[in-house]
Amino acid sequence: MDNSEVIIVGGGLAGLTCAIQLALMGQKTLVIERNTYPHHKVCGEYLSNEIIPYLGHLGIFLPTVGAVTINTLQFTTVSGKSIELKLPLGGMGISRYALDHLLYLRAVGLGVPFIFDTVTKIDFKDNIFEVTTAGKAEFTAPLVIGAYGKRSVLDKSMNRDFINKKSDWLGVKAHYKWEDFPENVVGLHHFNGGYGGISKTETGAVNFCYLASYKSFKAEKDMENFTRNVVGRNPFLNSFLKTATPVFEHPLTIAQISFHNKKKVENHVLMCGDSAGLIHPLCGNGMAMAIHSAKIASELMFHFLNNKGYGRAQLEYDYQDRWNATFNRRMFTGRMIQSMLLGKGVAEFGLSILARSPRLLGTLIKQTHGKPIVC
Ligand SMILES: Cc1cc2nc3c(=O)[nH]c(=O)nc-3n(C[C@H](O)[C@H](O)[C@H](O)COP(=O)(O)OP(=O)(O)OC[C@H]3O[C@@H](n4cnc5c(N)ncnc54)[C@H](O)[C@@H]3O)c2cc1C
Repeated sequence: MDNSEVIIVGGGLAGLTCAIQLALMGQKTLVIERNTYPHHKVCGEYLSNEIIPYLGHLGIFLPTVGAVTINTLQFTTVSGKSIELKLPLGGMGISRYALDHLLYLRAVGLGVPFIFDTVTKIDFKDNIFEVTTAGKAEFTAPLVIGAYGKRSVLDKSMNRDFINKKSDWLGVKAHYKWEDFPENVVGLHHFNGGYGGISKTETGAVNFCYLASYKSFKAEKDMENFTRNVVGRNPFLNSFLKTATPVFEHPLTIAQISFHNKKKVENHVLMCGDSAGLIHPLCGNGMAMAIHSAKIASELMFHFLNNKGYGRAQLEYDYQDRWNATFNRRMFTGRMIQSMLLGKGVAEFGLSILARSPRLLGTLIKQTHGKPIVC
């Protein structure tokens, strides 16, 4: 396997997209992923339509696995305000269990090799990367993509700036049976210190995923109390939690979620997806951005591998430049909406404006999305 041209560290949406795109362009890759497929992940599971044409180009067709069409946003507040609006672009409801698995099968079908192990170290010397895993295997290649998600041991070993900053958010997700919920709606429901998304998935189960600040969580001591006393203060969520039947034995959780700026290239590794930066989940397009950033990285890497005059310094410059041009506005707007929703003192005021103004909400949503990628 040491004849790989690109080693992809992490086989989530960004890593799998790189693997498929590069395989379609005839490049030899190796994916190193710590978990086997399929598996559930903490995610709202609403996939923006901006990425659907590109997925089709990669040979991924979501309706074949029953993904549902979503065209309406429902937004509620703790004080019971509620609005509904047509989403400018819309999206699809599909579990990460199904989506990541579908991409994995496509990559395997294209002959991409996978190693299931945890990468512990990435070294760069004499223009070659050496990648070491927890199982003590070593792999070399001229290019490495860092697609290992929000947070990893690798961020520590690379001493990335964001890793030493406070990351005081946690995410919780579970599937439920709740027949009453319409298939075409994604809900965004605010509570003190956080918000939750609700939408249907391809199995007919409803996914409920919320993001909460540690501060609000800590005050309640455990998840049961937090769900009942804080999440359940929102009247819509209260009725959901009382009537829906959990499908998972226990909810999945992730901690230390960071929304800080991250460098797009670190020690010559091109960072893709959440490794390059996580947009606030309420924007509903982290997955689309992960896939899109993988497209950008793969195309530039193809150029690097096939044009002697296109050097590494230019590749790294171009990747950062294209990443910033494509995503910076969305990241900024995401931060703005998040502070409007959760900032001290401004929350109820900001929410009451949004809840009364579907047009403003629609404009903000547009600012967090790009145009559909036509291939
Ligand atoms: C609470 C919450 C809700 C969200 N809701 C939505 C939503 O509704 N819609 C949306 O579009 N986005 C949403 N997002 C964002 C979305 O989940 C991410 O942007 C997306 O998963 C990024 O994909 P990725 O490939 O970068 O990372 P991931 O999907 O996390 O993949 C990273 C992979 O790397 C592997 N890995 C990690 N470390 C190593 C290692 N050292 N060695 C080998 N493998 C490793 C992991 O096992 C994982 O499979 C949400 C995020 C949060 C936190």
